[in-house]
Amino acid sequence: SSRTRTPSASATEHAAPVVSMAKMGIVLNPEEAYRKLIASIEPLAGSEMAETREALGRFAAEDIVAPVDLPPFDASAMDGYAVAARDLGAVVAPFEMRVVGASVAGGPSDIPVGGREALRILTGAVMPEGADAIVLQEDTERHGDTIVVTERPRPGQHVRTRGHDIARGARVVAAGTRLDAYRLSWLTACGIGRVAVRPRVRVAVLATGDELVEVGETLGPGQIYESNRFALAQLMSDLPVEVLDLGRLPDDREATRAALARAAADADVVVTSGGVSVGDADHVRDAVLEVGRLDFWKIALKPGKPLAVGRIGRADFFGLPGNPVSTIVTFLLFVVPAIVRRGGGVPEPPMRLRARLAHDVRHTLGRREYQRGIVTDRDGELVVAATGDQSSNRLATFDGANCLIEVPGDRGSLARDEVVSIVLLERGTGRLF
Ligand code: AMP
Ligand code: MG
Repeated sequence: SSRTRTPSASATEHAAPVVSMAKMGIVLNPEEAYRKLIASIEPLAGSEMAETREALGRFAAEDIVAPVDLPPFDASAMDGYAVAARDLGAVVAPFEMRVVGASVAGGPSDIPVGGREALRILTGAVMPEGADAIVLQEDTERHGDTIVVTERPRPGQHVRTRGHDIARGARVVAAGTRLDAYRLSWLTACGIGRVAVRPRVRVAVLATGDELVEVGETLGPGQIYESNRFALAQLMSDLPVEVLDLGRLPDDREATRAALARAAADADVVVTSGGVSVGDADHVRDAVLEVGRLDFWKIALKPGKPLAVGRIGRADFFGLPGNPVSTIVTFLLFVVPAIVRRGGGVPEPPMRLRARLAHDVRHTLGRREYQRGIVTDRDGELVVAATGDQSSNRLATFDGANCLIEVPGDRGSLARDEVVSIVLLERGTGRLF
């Protein structure tokens, strides 16, 4: 493949440490934070050619226009008879027509029709010259070379005109479109076997914390299994990324600094979990400031304490809070759209639906809260219930969850039967719908 990509610069290039204390004091609402974030991300340059059949999930690097009309010829949409409806004059059904030939899919006929002539035709077959309508097989009786037409055809009926799916020269896919199964089928139907796509985004993932051990190891006193790297990798599994799993980091500033510099040299996006609070064991902020730039945002959001956003060299940096639910929710809300944008795609805000609360929700005014919920359709109305205790360490809150409930930041507790916004979690990928 003809892959091109700007070579990555050294990790510390353009890394003037700037952090404004004033900025750190401002609490952003989630929409402002999202807008700021997306505006700050520079899409990757370059493109590479991919076989259409291997391009699922990739972002189109350029507009793609149809090289052909689709369908390429006027065709029958049904089994029946091709006729010249405009030649039928004042005739009233039933009436007779003479069968002059046949056209089947892949086997066109060069016999033209006109007047009281009909050509036997099957679905997908080329319309013969002179024909402008299809008489349905069900609306005929056949007697040898003659048919009796029992329903008078209208001009144009059951004809697929050339180019009515897409006309030659029209745009099939716009630059930045995520190539899903439908786009890929359409490209294939247009005869396009290779597409220019954006390069995969290289996303480095690191977990910080002295307490973390790898699955398969034995837990010592005070230790827990590391699950955030795993969660993030799974949540990216069908995004056009290359995940660089850089393992676990101890709560040590020097080790963190060195690891971040290395990560940024190899990756387009660096994501860490844990160590971004203000505790004695939280070294991510200081380490980032040594090798890059940090915009530390306070977002009026729960879960999700301050989200560390910044740059290290050419890499975008995200320091996510360590509690597993906080890591996942902030990743879904902020990092996934950032990766989409970095990869040349157009991030779309998740679709909000309205649902009625099945129970009271306790909430403190001030931060928008995303609770994990189960939404069901009750006779055409959506009803949503939270998945129990919403503590941000509880992965159990995702058990059976199919949505996030948005508890507004400008409201206190909510009462049962109030209507709230929800965003769906996509089946399979687990991402926001
Ligand atoms: P931190 O943000 O580092 O203060 O971590 C907050 C909480 O999340 C602590 O209870 C950590 O033990 C836990 N935690 C941090 N990182 C991970 C991880 N990668 N996997 C599981 N739990 C974690
Ligand atoms: Mg920690």
